[in-house]
Amino acid sequence: MANLDTTCVQGGYRPGNGEPRQIPIIQSTTFKYDTGTDMGKLFDLEASGYFYSRLQNPTCDTVAAKICALEGGTAAMLTSSGQAASFFSIFNIAQAGDHVVSSSSIYGGTFNLFNVTMRKMGIEFTFISPDCTDEELEAAFRPNTKAVFGETVANPALTVLDIERFAKAAHAHGCPLIIDNTFATPINCRPFEWGADIVTHSTTKYMDGHGSAVGGCIVDSGKFDWTKYADKFPGLCTPDESYHGITYTERFGMEGAYITKATAQLMRDLGATQSPQSAYYLNLGLESLHLRMKQHCKNAQAVAEFLAGHEKISWVKYCGLKGDKDYALAQKYMPNGSCGVVSFGVKGGKAAAEKFMEALTIAAIETHVADARSCCLHPASTTHRQLSDEELVACGVTPDLVRLSCGIEGTEDLVADVAQALEKI
Ligand SMILES: *Cc1c(COP(=O)(O)O)cnc(C)c1O
Repeated sequence: MANLDTTCVQGGYRPGNGEPRQIPIIQSTTFKYDTGTDMGKLFDLEASGYFYSRLQNPTCDTVAAKICALEGGTAAMLTSSGQAASFFSIFNIAQAGDHVVSSSSIYGGTFNLFNVTMRKMGIEFTFISPDCTDEELEAAFRPNTKAVFGETVANPALTVLDIERFAKAAHAHGCPLIIDNTFATPINCRPFEWGADIVTHSTTKYMDGHGSAVGGCIVDSGKFDWTKYADKFPGLCTPDESYHGITYTERFGMEGAYITKATAQLMRDLGATQSPQSAYYLNLGLESLHLRMKQHCKNAQAVAEFLAGHEKISWVKYCGLKGDKDYALAQKYMPNGSCGVVSFGVKGGKAAAEKFMEALTIAAIETHVADARSCCLHPASTTHRQLSDEELVACGVTPDLVRLSCGIEGTEDLVADVAQALEKI
């Protein structure tokens, strides 16, 4: 099933004769075996199968397989949230004393996770602008750098990452490039085709798409040769004494080592697993992802173009606008559209922004994006309020910034709603 549209609808699951057409929700914490030996083989990772849903569950694996196919990866796992996916994606290959290079233009929750919580765990981060020079990028690396992290289209700054350039720099230093592809989704961009090695998602956003279930996903391209840098990645390339002395790269190869370790070790110990019920909702969302993304992008383009010409708007950030600084990058990486989120500044700053948001009738004020229903947010006073002014600037969040997530409602209705709300300020 090479076609992405078909994969959205049918990927990951092929029922046999007389089996359910929709994916079964295996609402079971545990699985029954005839002998202890049978189960022992599972614990030793000698046979594949299920024994406890904290580590793996058939419903979750079915949905992970669909996302894996959409991204063109070799292995994938669901996590309880996008935050868990971001954390696992790095913690799977880095530990206290290690270092990671990250784009500074990332989701506020991820920035906090890296800059505060993971620093407390002893992992250092260097944040660099996606627009940095080659020299600045080069200078960010240290001998103990284990990964490079960035977002295809950043939330909420909406900058576009030059994936190929960052992949080249990462690989030159023996590091994988991890891309959070939440906003673009594999419908609009497939980072593995541009050299990324690992992809993460907050499936809470477009993939679920209906505001029903919090979730995350990690996908491995299977292309990063960990054994080439065995000294850098001992967790993957030397025996795991906590797992019967298994060496993940030896047993599962380039295509399976990373996700198997993340499941067998991190999910076992940290338990940030997704429930089968949530995975079912996620799959329902995925079935129409290809259709919804088109409408999200169409609506965002129309709203962005309307705002760009409006006297009460000081600036608009949408990479689909011809004058946008990221327009060329967006055309390269996302020729069919980027995402449904538009950021802009309302003249009159915070007060005007709030008045505008309250006057909207279609878009609701929510801590959410990428939903079928339009929603809006003032990041500086909500999601990003814990950041200092300097950190806000580094994240691309100014005090007047309104983030409008265009849903899949009628284009004319959405533009008219924005127009009437602007008249009220
Ligand atoms: C929302 C979001 C996250 C965090 O995901 P949760 O599912 O809310 O934990 C991570 N990255 C991006 C780009 C996001 O938009």
